[in-house]
Amino acid sequence: MVAMKSRISLLILALVLVFTLTACGPKSSGSIVEGKVNVVTTFYPIYEFTREIGGDDINAINLLPVGVEPHDWTPRSQDIVNTSKAQLFLYNGAGLEGWVPNFLKGLDSSSKVEAVEVSKGIDLIMTDEDDGHDHGGSSEEDHHEDDADHNSHSGDSLHTDPHTWVSPKSAIIMARNIKDSLLSVDPEHKDGYEERYNKLAERLQALDSKFEQELTKLPNHEIVVSHQAFSYLARDYGLDQHAIMGLSPDAEPRGQDLVNLAKLVKDEGIKYIFFEELVSDKLAKTLAAEAGVSTMVLNPVEGLTAEQEKNGDNYFTLMEKNLQNLIMALQ
Ligand SMILES: [Zn+2]
Repeated sequence: MVAMKSRISLLILALVLVFTLTACGPKSSGSIVEGKVNVVTTFYPIYEFTREIGGDDINAINLLPVGVEPHDWTPRSQDIVNTSKAQLFLYNGAGLEGWVPNFLKGLDSSSKVEAVEVSKGIDLIMTDEDDGHDHGGSSEEDHHEDDADHNSHSGDSLHTDPHTWVSPKSAIIMARNIKDSLLSVDPEHKDGYEERYNKLAERLQALDSKFEQELTKLPNHEIVVSHQAFSYLARDYGLDQHAIMGLSPDAEPRGQDLVNLAKLVKDEGIKYIFFEELVSDKLAKTLAAEAGVSTMVLNPVEGLTAEQEKNGDNYFTLMEKNLQNLIMALQ
């Protein structure tokens, strides 16, 4: 009993130690090209779909730098300058970028940029999980560190789960919203946008069918993940998600939940704990060691690592790997 207790406190201690701080990342890449339709996107999946659909008719600038995860990122003054000069600003919405309302207010008064929430039309998932980032509400200041500490875990307030893009079913809706917004700011290039959109939509439909076929025939459906980023994937493909952390990967883990999760892993015969590349894997490894199982990557596609960018990875290659890992873990 004593040994058990000390193992639990070691587990909790390890959790506290691996609680990582968000580094101040490099600045966004890309700059305004005069004479082009300039489109500013907030983070990777939207950037990729926008470039696919926009082709040579647009110049896309992604705000979030490579290797940075989006939950705690906030824009810099150069981002305001660029966005003020752009024709289109595409953001995920659904609570991902809490800084957007103030950012839009801060744009140059002469700016004609059209701002579009790319997740509109998706049936959003509400959760009582702490998401650890602010929602740009009325009088909130940008004190991210404080949020996680002061939010209670009482579960009496609901948050929107922002991770819409992780399900190919919502990605299809997002691609359509991006196409429609390009048509609205640049109707002259309608044919090109439509043609490239149709190709992308076809690939997304194929990915969706593959997820559906492969996942529904697997005997197991319980997944344990480090950050709660797979609710849409779970809902759309019949999985059951258990998360170590909340919606943001830097929300503080709860010791008792970990003990319960370790028990669940043992009771359900779960073989792998999933982790992701953009945040520390130590938490997942700690739980895996505690439960005597292995770890494996499940990527929430919130951004590319420098390595993945070099390899030419994209939404499709990463989701394909996710599917292969899910198949391996759930059979
Ligand atoms: Zn996330």
